[in-house]
This record gives sequence, structure tokens and C-alpha cells, in this order.
Amino acid sequence: MTPYDAPSPQAATARGPALIDGFGRTVTYLRVSVTDRCDLRCVYCMAEHMTFLPKAEVLTLEELDRISSAFVSLGVRKLRLTGGEPLVRKGVMGLFESLSRHLRSGALDELTLTTNGTRLAEFAGPLADLGVRRINVSLDTLRPDLFRRLTRGGELSKVLAGIDAAQAAGLAVKINAVALKDDNGAEIPELIAWGHGRGLDVTLIETMPLGEVETDRTDQFLSLKQVRQDLESFWTLQDLPLNTGGPARYVRVAETGGRLGFITPLSHNFCEACNRVRLTCTGTLHTCLGREDASDLRAVLRAGADDAGLVEAIRRAVDAKPQGHDFRIERSAEPAVARHMSTTGG
Ligand code: SAM
Ligand code: SF4
Repeated sequence: MTPYDAPSPQAATARGPALIDGFGRTVTYLRVSVTDRCDLRCVYCMAEHMTFLPKAEVLTLEELDRISSAFVSLGVRKLRLTGGEPLVRKGVMGLFESLSRHLRSGALDELTLTTNGTRLAEFAGPLADLGVRRINVSLDTLRPDLFRRLTRGGELSKVLAGIDAAQAAGLAVKINAVALKDDNGAEIPELIAWGHGRGLDVTLIETMPLGEVETDRTDQFLSLKQVRQDLESFWTLQDLPLNTGGPARYVRVAETGGRLGFITPLSHNFCEACNRVRLTCTGTLHTCLGREDASDLRAVLRAGADDAGLVEAIRRAVDAKPQGHDFRIERSAEPAVARHMSTTGG
């Protein structure tokens, strides 16, 4: 057995507390951005002409596996691959296949991904075969022309075909929609009803000030508090106790029977329970989405660290996880954090 094969959660605990930060929070969830590239250019996420990273800066699939598996050995129970668009990374299915050993060993509860859905028609079946059970698909509108504009050229029909394929493969699909005042604001109830009608959870996300894009984000910002009030004028929203340790709060819509989430990253209402950290595709570990704090795990790996050295670097980084973040959209359209969501991983 290599040091990263199938460590049991008990083993992680037996070595002392797993990954516990300086504020006593246990880290059990890792999001990994496997690429900064994408086949879409969503207006709130990327600039129209993005400069992507040189290949040498991006972690190889083996490096991604090694770091992810080190986290699993330290008690991380949930792994989400994201990007950029994870399904455009060449060989990504090999990475899923390799990481799925942790599901089979019982070390990992969940292996999942966040995707724009354009390639799901091809990959949903193989992902389900590897033990992926639930996925998040980002979809902001059901209008082909608006979809094309928001994504700068994307084809809605491909995403819908991808969602069909995912459901046919038995995957539970959650739709993530960014709320954008002038674009999909009026369409939100329709999007929710559509999702719930197909048995999909729907989560709304407030825009976050991450990375430079051409548009003024304060123009697009739509408060979910406002959206919730609007929805409550014709639907009954019943609070659900579900707490994922993240910034989402959930309700049941009595009239549709479906589950609806609200992700409000700009309010400081979830930092105390935060159980997650993020690895960029260049191997930088961010222990807080809204802060610049970062540890360079690629440098540790490429300096030839052994497994113990890597684990030590991870522990040190997690120990310094900040208490909370500092987003304030009202200040300006300037990004609070310079990196793009596509680099950090949403
Ligand atoms: N490409 C995949 C996708 O779109 O699902 C995964 C990566 S994407 C960066 C992850 C999520 O971040 C998407 O749901 C996207 O809508 C969201 N996102 C990107 N930029 C954002 C921003 N500035 N504010 C809020 N959400 C954002
Ligand atoms: Fe690509 Fe996802 Fe960003 Fe859209 S939100 S540009 S699909 S990474």
C-alpha cells in the first residue's frame, strides 16, 4: 500500500486530529480546479480574450492525484473537481478513475464535479460507472439567445442534452444559476419550476467580485434577499435544516416540492462552519475563497518533497486558514480578489 492508498478515516484520526485549522474547524471538503481553460466565456467569470496558463504551470494529472490523495489521507471525505471546465482537460477521466479508488476503499464519501454541461452527453455514463453520484451543472437561462450571449457563444441544446444524459445515467443533478439582474432576473421563477419539474435541485448564486472582467459587476448584482422576497410573494418557501458547511441555505418550495438553495457569498454568515479548502490548477492552496491567503503546494511537490513533506505543508496551510472573508461588493466594481473564479475553481 502506498502512503495514499485507501487510508481509513480512523487512520487519519489515529495520527492525531485530521485537518483542523487554527479556529477549530475540521477540513473535510476539497475542491480542485483541474484546468483554467474552458469552452465557454461566461461574462461574469472570464474576460472575452483570456490568456490561459502555460502548460508547465498547470499541475499534471499525476500531481493532481497526489495532492488530492494526500488530502484524503488527512480525512477529507468529499472531493469536487472543477475549473475552468473540468471536462475539457485532456485525460480528466483517467484522473476520475484513479481517484475513484478512494470511494471503493471507503476513504471518500463523495467524488463529484461542477461542470458547464457541454460535454456531459459523452461523459455522464462513464462518470456514473466510476461511482460519481451527484453533479452540479451551471445553467443561468433556458433561452438559447441569452445563453449564447452570457456564455459568449455557447449552445444551450448541448447543455440540455448533457443534463438528459446525466439523469439517464442515474446521476442526481443540481442546477447552479448565477442571479444577474438585467439578464436572467425575471426568468428565475421559470428556471426553478423547470428544474423542480425534472426532479433537479436548483441553487441560486450571487455574483462575486473575483477577477477582472470587462463588465461592471455592480450593474449585474442581484441580491438574493430580494429574489427570495419576490419568490415568497407567490410561493411558500419552507426553511430546511440542511447545512453543508458552505455558504448555501436551503428551502423547500411547497408548490413545486423541489429544493432551492441560496448561495450568498457576500454575507459573512457561513465562515464559522466552513469545512472546505480549494486547490487551483497550479497547485496553490486557498483556504478561504475571499482572501488572498495561499500556499504553493506545486513548489513543495516539484522540490521533490516526499509524502510526509507534502502532508506537513498541507497541515501548515490549513492551520493558517483565515477566520473569515472580506467581500464587499458595494465598494466598487474592483475585484476583491484578483484571481478569476475559473482559476480558483467555483
Ligand atoms: N466551468 C464549470 C461550471 O461553469 O460549472 C466549473 C467552474 S465555474 C468557475 C463554477 C461556478 O462558478 C459556476 O456555477 C459559475 O456560474 C460560478 N461563477 C463563476 N464566476 C462567478 C462569479 N464572479 N460570481 C459568482 N459565481 C461565479
Ligand atoms: Fe467556463 Fe464555468 Fe467560467 Fe462559464 S463559469 S466561463 S463555464 S469556467
